[in-house]
Amino acid sequence: MTPAQISAGQEALESAHFQLGSAAERLGLDDGLRAMLATPRRSLTVAVPVRREDGSMDVVQGFRVQHNVSRGPAKGGIRFHPATDIHEVTALAMWMTWKCALVGIPYGGAKGGVAVDPAGYTTRELERLTRRYVNEILPLIGPDKDIPAPDVGTDEQTMAWIMDTYSVNAGYAVPGVVTGKPMPLGGSLGRAGATSRGVQIAALSALGRSPEGVTVAVQGFGKVGAGAAQYLADAGCKVVAVSDVTGAVYAPDGLDVAGLRAWVAESGQVRGYRDADALGLDELLELDVDLLVPAALEGAITEANAPRIRARLIVEGANGPTTPEADRVLAANGTTIVPDILANAGGVIVSYLEWVQNIQACSWSESQIERKLRDMMESAYGEVKSVAAERDLTLREAAHVIGVGRVAEAHRMRGLYP
Ligand code: GLU
Repeated sequence: MTPAQISAGQEALESAHFQLGSAAERLGLDDGLRAMLATPRRSLTVAVPVRREDGSMDVVQGFRVQHNVSRGPAKGGIRFHPATDIHEVTALAMWMTWKCALVGIPYGGAKGGVAVDPAGYTTRELERLTRRYVNEILPLIGPDKDIPAPDVGTDEQTMAWIMDTYSVNAGYAVPGVVTGKPMPLGGSLGRAGATSRGVQIAALSALGRSPEGVTVAVQGFGKVGAGAAQYLADAGCKVVAVSDVTGAVYAPDGLDVAGLRAWVAESGQVRGYRDADALGLDELLELDVDLLVPAALEGAITEANAPRIRARLIVEGANGPTTPEADRVLAANGTTIVPDILANAGGVIVSYLEWVQNIQACSWSESQIERKLRDMMESAYGEVKSVAAERDLTLREAAHVIGVGRVAEAHRMRGLYP
């Protein structure tokens, strides 16, 4: 394979390894520990046969990777996307490990994926696919072992099927096996919007001034992007552009985010929204705005487009949207990036709160969840900011030094068995 042919997943994994390598260097970790942290503890690839409505059968690939379990059970979402592969899932699992350590929740990191386009399947087919995939990864998951959650292409309904499949096999209800569940099954108040709310908290912390009139462009109008646009608009920002896979819309005086969400619910896309102009997908990233929120997939901001990015602040709603080469260009240009493992940690923070409620068989109010989420996001932001200042690092470098450092410390204290 020539370098030009490597998959997006391989590129993501290269980025993840580069970030780990830099943090390990700064922390002075020895080669053995570095190899330990670079290698997933368990990786499972499974075949998922799916009966289609016409009676035919598809066989798709599924994955579950537990990157690390030193600080607690593995934790991370499940992605349904046609381009997902073992490399992407491994990178995403590694980022979950650092994210959980950074925000101080007692988890390792994991991720799952099924290489499928959910839009091409009926709801009944998706249910069969999800249940069969869960059955194949059953030996790995459990409330004390590995706890899945939503990610790109999966939602509350997917989590309900996971909870049910696991519980039927166990013989009793096990709500704590998965987070991001519907409320009647032990879901948590505030979980649905948690990643977006965390992005808003991170953005407002990094702005360090009144959000009133701050112009924003959001790439991706899915669960994370649409919610982030809404919360930022609610805080007084002017969301001028948003995109999805089909295109982008732009309104220099600010988009009516609620109106746009209603349009997307009706039409399935941002394109064609009446109160906005059409914009190219690349143009959105390069708009002259104060704040850019990449909230789609990995590798959106690369060496190729980084020199044209004019936003002074980037807050990463997605995992891995900026390549290390782009990081270098943006740092040289003085752009501040609030990195993914900090900016989008709101989702896994409220997942943790959901799991704690499940295992304690209790439930907390929306304001309790909101307060805990805000405290945890703000304190992680503060720690990253001060390590960055003390050691003259970017926020991403500082976040990795903290996350990787905590996992390395747990390894050292536990020692090697046998
Ligand atoms: N998929 C989300 C993430 O990338 C949430 C994971 C979780 O809640 O476990 O952080």
